[in-house]
Amino acid sequence: MDNNPQFIDDARVFVNPAFGCDSACSFCYLDSLGFTRLEPSTKSGEDIKKSLLANPQFIPGKTGTIISLSPDTESFAERIVPITLDYIRSLSKLQNPMQIATKRQLDKTLANQIIGSLAYPDQLTVFVSSSSITYHHVFEKQTAAPTKRFETFSACRSAGLPVCLFIKPVIPNITIIDVEKYVTVINEYSVPYCCIGEFYADSRMLLRLNVILKSLGKPEIEDHVGKYTSPFSDKLYQIKDLNSDNDLTESFLQVENYIRGKTSTRLHRTSTCVVSDVLHISSVGKKWINYPHLCVKCQDCEGMSRALPASSLKIIKPVS
Ligand code: SF4
Repeated sequence: MDNNPQFIDDARVFVNPAFGCDSACSFCYLDSLGFTRLEPSTKSGEDIKKSLLANPQFIPGKTGTIISLSPDTESFAERIVPITLDYIRSLSKLQNPMQIATKRQLDKTLANQIIGSLAYPDQLTVFVSSSSITYHHVFEKQTAAPTKRFETFSACRSAGLPVCLFIKPVIPNITIIDVEKYVTVINEYSVPYCCIGEFYADSRMLLRLNVILKSLGKPEIEDHVGKYTSPFSDKLYQIKDLNSDNDLTESFLQVENYIRGKTSTRLHRTSTCVVSDVLHISSVGKKWINYPHLCVKCQDCEGMSRALPASSLKIIKPVS
């Protein structure tokens, strides 16, 4: 398989040290993209670095393109770890902000290896993903058990890596069950950032999820098409509430409001804004302009952007 960096919105580039995943999450979109098994990339980190530098869309440097590592794989699956570290080592030299998400446990040794590979300590933010604690064995079958996975917060924090609890996707009637447990995790580990993400799906994924929801005696999800704003695939759409024009669903807002009221973590609605917040740089995707419903006004992005040339303020029209 070709492994070419994929540019999104002129602000972010997707880079994969492997394709496919063996975590078997029921809300996974990878089969919609054609990735059915976990396969390491045949390209090295240096190969990818050269491709990025040769691409005119790529803006190098700390305020340049965000490098999203592994959107189409689980980069910390055991046999992928060496190549993931190789990618981090090579790409960190570009100085760009990087982000990576996982449903595995990172121990202290691995966290120290990562930080030792970076150009500066907060260059890479680690997102620890979870959509359900109670039903983890149902919805995230072959991932690390939540109690083990959340130990990643300690490992990253003691190594000095920025780390974020990534509650994505919010599964209607499921994620809400665990809000008190998420609050406990955030407070127990002093998790500095929490990003909550809406649910994107296609009809095949919905069918699969609804079979599970029915077996658990939970209401099925209506196939109500929202915006096609997911950067992952033009086949995926945001699941919207019926009879509502709100950009954010009630399920999402319930989880967000609960966590806001009981923790002092910095809450976000999109991972790139977490990275901007960590690095104190203007939102690389210009979220406050292009996706205002995702902006939580964590900082003065507009003011910071005034220091940039006007030509760099590109307005992106969401696909609807
Ligand atoms: S102010 Fe808004 S756009 Fe800027 S980083 Fe914070 S959430 Fe994102």
